[in-house]
Amino acid sequence: QTHFLSLSLQAKMSRPVQARRLEGIDKNIWVEFVKLATTYSTVNLGQGFPDFPPPDFLKEAFMRAISGENHMLHQYTRAFGHPPLVKILAQLFGKLLGRDLDPMTNVMVTVGAYQALFCCFQAFVDEGDEVIIIEPFFDCYEPMVKMAGGKPVFVPLRPKAPKHGKLMSSADWQLDPAELASKFSERTKAIVLNSPNNPLGKVFSREELQLIADLCVKHDVLCISDEVYEWLVYDGKEHIRIANLQGMWERTVIIGSAGKTFSATGWKVGWTVGPNRLLQHIRTVHQNSVYHCATAAQEAVAQGFQRELELYGKPDSYFVQLPKLLQQKRDWLVQSLDALGMKPIVPEGTYFLVADISEFKSDVPDVPDSDEPYDSRFAKWMVKNKGLAVIPLSTFYCGAHKNNYNHFIRFCFAKEEATLKAANDILQKWKREKTSS
Ligand code: PMP
Repeated sequence: QTHFLSLSLQAKMSRPVQARRLEGIDKNIWVEFVKLATTYSTVNLGQGFPDFPPPDFLKEAFMRAISGENHMLHQYTRAFGHPPLVKILAQLFGKLLGRDLDPMTNVMVTVGAYQALFCCFQAFVDEGDEVIIIEPFFDCYEPMVKMAGGKPVFVPLRPKAPKHGKLMSSADWQLDPAELASKFSERTKAIVLNSPNNPLGKVFSREELQLIADLCVKHDVLCISDEVYEWLVYDGKEHIRIANLQGMWERTVIIGSAGKTFSATGWKVGWTVGPNRLLQHIRTVHQNSVYHCATAAQEAVAQGFQRELELYGKPDSYFVQLPKLLQQKRDWLVQSLDALGMKPIVPEGTYFLVADISEFKSDVPDVPDSDEPYDSRFAKWMVKNKGLAVIPLSTFYCGAHKNNYNHFIRFCFAKEEATLKAANDILQKWKREKTSS
């Protein structure tokens, strides 16, 4: 036994076990913040998932799928997507995009939008290729680009002061056209667009999308368009699909998520929609890694979409009701944070809201020259001492830019009324204690 032990020790020391592609991406903030939330929080507005149930029609569809007569729903299905699901997605997106889509070649089902993203980067990005990412961004884009051997190139949304007396809106965060243009070169392979954007809730306007589209066409660049929050837009705003702009369909992959669409993030059903010239390579990555996503979940999501297609635009549609419900929650949280002096940036879409913590800084002193951005220390302190879990905005910036905007935190408001009230109670009590001390 001693002999084996020394052999394995030797083996351990003789060469690195970690593949080079993992260098610098082994730390993940979600692991840390989810653990902190589980350990300390009484109220969790951190990670982005609803704490209310998915709609009954969806749960019932899943139950029928697993307990019904068709026992084949417990077995493998088509690798690139369960036929009923790709068919209904082709129908729905065909309508939204105003073009005929072939369910077998223009749609592919993935294990959540996460895997769709991973497949895109693996399929399109070569060693040394540059991929433009707009900050703040859903954090997995950066490590996924790096794992594919690519180089992320960041361009920030820059906030401009809101109109006098008005709260800042996510629309006040904008790209500088000249700065964006300067990031495109012959090395640029793709740009990642996320509208509505996590974490700000920004819904890109037609003019902003046109700017991006023109640069993509000019430089022959692909667009990976993460539209997982496509149904969550407020105040009558319109979600515009960049694939619909001139010259963009051929170079765009649309990514979606049933988790966000139907409030069932744990099901991990996502999809890609795009031209076959792009999707054929995504299929290659998918068939050689994941192969396919749970059949019964795909069947249930297909039925959910069937219902939604029939009710499209009608008051009973979940795609009409969910944003209505979430807009009320958003408005409530905006008002309560504003009253507390934690200035909210009013989101136009998604179920996230970013707020300014400057007025709450006094309890959590800054440590000059620390490697950790202030908002991160603040969020950790808050969950440990106040029991309220949120995510620091610096999470959504690359390493070099984490201190550019380090006095904001992100709340998820896809929560029951009682959860939001409990969060408000915590902040109110904290504020009272601060004022009296
Ligand atoms: N993209 C964005 C912008 C997201 O916010 C998320 C989930 N937080 C995903 C992709 C991943 O979606 P899924 O849960 O379907 O994998």
